[in-house]
Amino acid sequence: MNPTPQPTQATRTFLAETQPLFIDGRAYVPNGEAITAAARNPADGNVIGQFYLGGPADVDIAVAAARNALIQRRWTGLTPSARAQALWRVAELIDRDAEVLAELETLEAGKLLKAARQGDLVISAESFRYHSGWCTKLNGETLAPTLASSTEYHCYTRHEPVGVVALIVPWNGALSMTCWKLAPALAAGCAVVIKPPEQASLAVLKLARLLQEAGIPDGVVNVVTGSGSTVGDALVRHPGVNKVSFTGSSATGRRIIAAAAHSNLKRLTLELGGKSAALVFADADLEQAAAGVCGGIFGNAGQVCVASSRLYVEARIFEEFTERVAARAQQLRVGPGMDPNSEMGPVISESHLANIDLKVTRGRGEGATVLAGGRRAVREGSFYEPTVIADVSRDSGVLREEIFGPVLCALPFESEAEAVAAANDTEYPLAGSVWTRDVSRAHRVASAIEAGLLWVNDHGRPDVAIPFGGFRQSGWGREHGRESVESYTELKSIMVRL
Ligand code: NAD
Repeated sequence: MNPTPQPTQATRTFLAETQPLFIDGRAYVPNGEAITAAARNPADGNVIGQFYLGGPADVDIAVAAARNALIQRRWTGLTPSARAQALWRVAELIDRDAEVLAELETLEAGKLLKAARQGDLVISAESFRYHSGWCTKLNGETLAPTLASSTEYHCYTRHEPVGVVALIVPWNGALSMTCWKLAPALAAGCAVVIKPPEQASLAVLKLARLLQEAGIPDGVVNVVTGSGSTVGDALVRHPGVNKVSFTGSSATGRRIIAAAAHSNLKRLTLELGGKSAALVFADADLEQAAAGVCGGIFGNAGQVCVASSRLYVEARIFEEFTERVAARAQQLRVGPGMDPNSEMGPVISESHLANIDLKVTRGRGEGATVLAGGRRAVREGSFYEPTVIADVSRDSGVLREEIFGPVLCALPFESEAEAVAAANDTEYPLAGSVWTRDVSRAHRVASAIEAGLLWVNDHGRPDVAIPFGGFRQSGWGREHGRESVESYTELKSIMVRL
């Protein structure tokens, strides 16, 4: 067996340093004290690097730095063209350092290196390119009043930056989700404090240095590492923070809503948990559908908010199709993300793996049949086997709760109406997919499914120009596209008596 490839020298050099916080354009060590945390590789449990941990006092300093940058108009005082060029430059620097950033994502979050390169890094850079264009196009409207004539009143709107924004992200895509929030927040003219996830802080700390190199002025972007219950909570309660853009679990989302309500009613965008459905009709290209459904649930070891965790298959092809899916699951090579032969990496931690296993075991206890996997993989590290489960009851936890692991529940349906009703029977309808060759059915079903993002004959592809977010308990608001950049603004109306 070949040894797992090692990271490049540039990544090793970065990892050799204990990484500081980033506040007001400077490397920042909390209180000058050495409060550090270890970053661990979930593929083997080894420590790969160290970073400093902030606390509420550091949040105060970071929010003050951001506020000061806003007041001094360090960012908004630049021309829109200069800001657009700076954001474009960030994209170029992400491209330049893509290998280091991809290796950091692989080492700390367990991603497949090729997936990090071709997915996370591409969309991270693209987010800055796309939003760079909004710097010069974020216009208001001229409106005609109804109770006065337009010669008496000139009325118009302006999109103004919402202010200081806290960006709180999870570990399953720490870099890309930071970029999804940061690029529109900057395009809108905000100043930000980023709280990376404690399991995967390093790539975001590396990004902070690139932002400075690209010419984002000091204090406009600050990064405070630390736990959710200290740094995250302090940001959410902070009276100097005008908006929180959060991606994470629905449970944490609830806590953030409560904290915002008890502080200053700050604006919230919440991207929360998902239990998305894939609907496969008998007329679909079954090979394409099997590949797409497997990619949707086993990509990133199922730790994807839009994972195709519920599979509904037309009854007359149910057996044939689930056999195909189970066969693919069994053939997937599970291994470290740094190994180019791996097709599915580890889950983030031992405790997360235990949680996944508990849910599968409970499902089995409720009568589910395991068609593939169903246990931890026999190898070193936090690996779970790609798992396919059938005979799941409508009320079982394995079908209703987000597992956030490589676990797929498959159920048959008889009619289109039954398929749509089953897909809609969830509190977490973030996304979904329809697999069919019938164009009319594709549009009909896509319109009937209550979810934020629907794919037809595909599952899981993100795009920074296409709005994305959840229905019901899977979130508030949208990321990507015009909706995203506008969500970092307050809309002001101005009525001028002529
Ligand atoms: P999590 O909610 O535990 O943590 C997410 C972030 O919130 C982390 O940075 C954490 O430190 C911070 N946090 C925790 N408690 C906090 C508090 N009280 N106040 C402020 N911040 C706090 O989620 P996780 O386990 O890291 O990530 C997995 C979850 O994220 C899954 O539920 C998944 O569906 C969801 N997710 C959603 C999307 C989406 O776009 N809808 C995308 C990716 C992940």
